[in-house]
Amino acid sequence: MTEMLLKYFREQQKQVETERIYNTQCPYCSMQCKMQLVEQTHVKRKTYKTIGRDNPTSQGRLCIKGMNAHQHPLHKDRIQYPLLKVNGEFVKISWREALDYIKEHVTEIQEKNGADALGVYGSASITNEEAYLLGKFARVALKTKYIDYNGRLCMSAAASAASKTFGMDRGFTNSLQEIPFTECIMLAGTNIAECQPTIMPYFEKAKENGAFIIAIDPRETGTTKIADLHLKLKPGSDAALANGILKVIIEENYLDERFLQERVNGFEEVMQYVVSLEFSVIEEITGVPLEKMYQAARMFGQRETGMIFTARGVEQQTDGSAAVQNFLNILLSVGKIGKPRCGYGAITGQGNGQGAREHGQKADQLPGYRSIENHEHRMYIADVWNIEEKDLPRKGVSAYEMIEKIHDGEIKGLFLVCSNPTVSNPNANFVKKAFKKLEFLVVADMFESETAKLANLILPASSYLEDEGTMTNVEGRVTLREASFPRHGEIKHDWEILCEIAKVLGKEEYFSFSSAEEIFNELRIASKGGIADYSGITYERLRAEKGILWPCRSLTDKGTERLFETRFAHSDGKAMMVPVSNQAIVPKAKITKKYPLYLTTGRVVSHYLTGVQTRKSASLSARNFESFMEIHPSTAKKYEISNQELVQIESSYGRIVVRSKFSEGIRPDTVFVPFHWADSQNVNNLVSEKLDPACKMPGFKVSAVNISPSVKRSSY
Ligand code: SF4
Repeated sequence: MTEMLLKYFREQQKQVETERIYNTQCPYCSMQCKMQLVEQTHVKRKTYKTIGRDNPTSQGRLCIKGMNAHQHPLHKDRIQYPLLKVNGEFVKISWREALDYIKEHVTEIQEKNGADALGVYGSASITNEEAYLLGKFARVALKTKYIDYNGRLCMSAAASAASKTFGMDRGFTNSLQEIPFTECIMLAGTNIAECQPTIMPYFEKAKENGAFIIAIDPRETGTTKIADLHLKLKPGSDAALANGILKVIIEENYLDERFLQERVNGFEEVMQYVVSLEFSVIEEITGVPLEKMYQAARMFGQRETGMIFTARGVEQQTDGSAAVQNFLNILLSVGKIGKPRCGYGAITGQGNGQGAREHGQKADQLPGYRSIENHEHRMYIADVWNIEEKDLPRKGVSAYEMIEKIHDGEIKGLFLVCSNPTVSNPNANFVKKAFKKLEFLVVADMFESETAKLANLILPASSYLEDEGTMTNVEGRVTLREASFPRHGEIKHDWEILCEIAKVLGKEEYFSFSSAEEIFNELRIASKGGIADYSGITYERLRAEKGILWPCRSLTDKGTERLFETRFAHSDGKAMMVPVSNQAIVPKAKITKKYPLYLTTGRVVSHYLTGVQTRKSASLSARNFESFMEIHPSTAKKYEISNQELVQIESSYGRIVVRSKFSEGIRPDTVFVPFHWADSQNVNNLVSEKLDPACKMPGFKVSAVNISPSVKRSSY
């Protein structure tokens, strides 16, 4: 019987009646791999598969997430109609009713409490057009200063460090094509093997070509496996480790003195500070043996070319911005930037982590990476938007600080787009309480996420298969994401939703767009002359050229492959080095008798962010259906914990229960928990609310915890 059934299905499979191909890009990480959805209609059913498409960045590759990325948009749980909460239950309503509901509540809240009583919380997974429009929507339609986005929790430290050091922030200073030919690579706090798997071949190729690879991470990962040297530092000690490496570079004179003299400010101060530090203290802080620091510094200093990459491991700390600056100090001290096969890369996490931080979703920002507090910038954007400069709100506060304002009752209503902040923010128990206090929460999303469940109104938003627009990938390459899959029910694109709300609020004249391309054309004008200048980029060019690296200042400008070849972006053309302390100004969690272990967090290959999308994919969900705690067996023995046992993890902020997973590759003083799960498995329940003062990044990467078996065993 089974044989017969199998034969029947095989026959069915063969009988493809029609086939349709939809071009698009993976919705997940910053590689933005080009892909095709293949829809085959058989006799009685449709089947789908996703395949890679050639392009300059991912070169046709897809990882396991990309290969299964069609599963969540096709999932039966997609929200297809506006849903209003009535007596604790969501009921289907029409768009007309939804828009009337929004108008009534926006008007009432703002009349009673002022414009700033409403906030907007955006996302780094939406298109450039939508990120741009969301910034405009907050400032022009709602007239509120309170807008920020979930990229604050991901990219703000690297962005702040690059802006301070180089005068501008484009994630990669070079295109990926240069990586295979560099001679020394430092991968600091990045697990690209799980987070951006299709970037790995660039590094593997470099290794084949003889590059020496240094990995910096408290645990062994798929990424550290390709390293020649692994510096297994204590969580949170990256800034000090960079000082140790710098001290060797100075001591053994690997400095590029001409470069430092001609192109850099601040080196003398850095040198004076670094030479005053004791190696023994740095060893104690980092837990990295001195000889390994010497080896790293010698390899990076002696090789002709080299590149440094940082990611969340360095950045998600209360001194993340300074720690990245210190890695940039290393790069500048040896003059390995602004020339072939030398440079820096901040490996962005979210799909549009780069573009979404450039065009006005941030609390202090206007499009084109302009500042909302700069008079000239305000005048320019006010002119583009056809409003008075005085009507443009001033800067607001960061994502987590907005949540504090919600908790304090200052912000009473919130528009949330494509994000799940009650799970992704630190101190998650507090965040959930704050969201429950909102009088008015409107969420545009594809699914009922943990945060959407708290909403008064959910608006059905389109997916990457349906929503055309541009995305700026990890390199800073602007790409056009085609998307022509038909929408079901009454799903709308985020930009359409914003335009329709603006219309009922009487602001139609500023939001009369009928396509993503029209919004992009306004964004081009708004970014013109700014740091992130997209003015020379058009949809037509993106189709023909398969992506353009910004800045691109005119229609004849080819874009910018390599930055800083002749000057940095500060007004004097020089880069800026500053001394970085071994210790953060905002102290990190310290291990104590009560909380004797470090906790650090990160990702697994089969999930993305809080898992709202990837858990809807059967193939991805099955690979990691629950969270876990990675622990060294010797530590587990001390706490009487067995492998695959439920364990309680407790910090001074909360408690979670996850299953143990033994690994010889993690430091014995550290446990690791991924951040893709909610509720009793949400590791952010354990994380402190303290923020990096420079960029307001929370300190996700270092907490102090205690652990115990979840179920007390009776003695045998
Ligand atoms: Fe590519 Fe990232 Fe998608 Fe994997 S998750 S297919 S690496 S874009």
